[in-house]
Amino acid sequence: MSYTYKIICPYCGTTFEWHEGKVGDKVYIHCNICGKEMLYPEDTESYVPSYPSCECGGWFEQTPDWTLFVCPKCQQEIEPHEVRKTIEVVKNKD
Ligand SMILES: [Zn+2]
Ligand SMILES: [Zn+2]
Repeated sequence: MSYTYKIICPYCGTTFEWHEGKVGDKVYIHCNICGKEMLYPEDTESYVPSYPSCECGGWFEQTPDWTLFVCPKCQQEIEPHEVRKTIEVVKNKD
């Protein structure tokens, strides 16, 4: 199951979508610097799951329980409470 978050960046006003969760046996992972996301086969074997690095120099990681969004336009980190008035959350079926 996965979630789609529709977010309006409080810094530059860009609207973007952010995904969390699983689709089949793949998980959404995000670059810790630029916020780029991709679906990647879940690493359940390793104690510390390893995911690829991003072309910007960051690392992809599976977002922990708390979510920090990264605006794809201005690359500001956005705390959930900053967007709680405008965020839209859509629950997706697999
Ligand atoms: Zn922004
Ligand atoms: Zn990146």
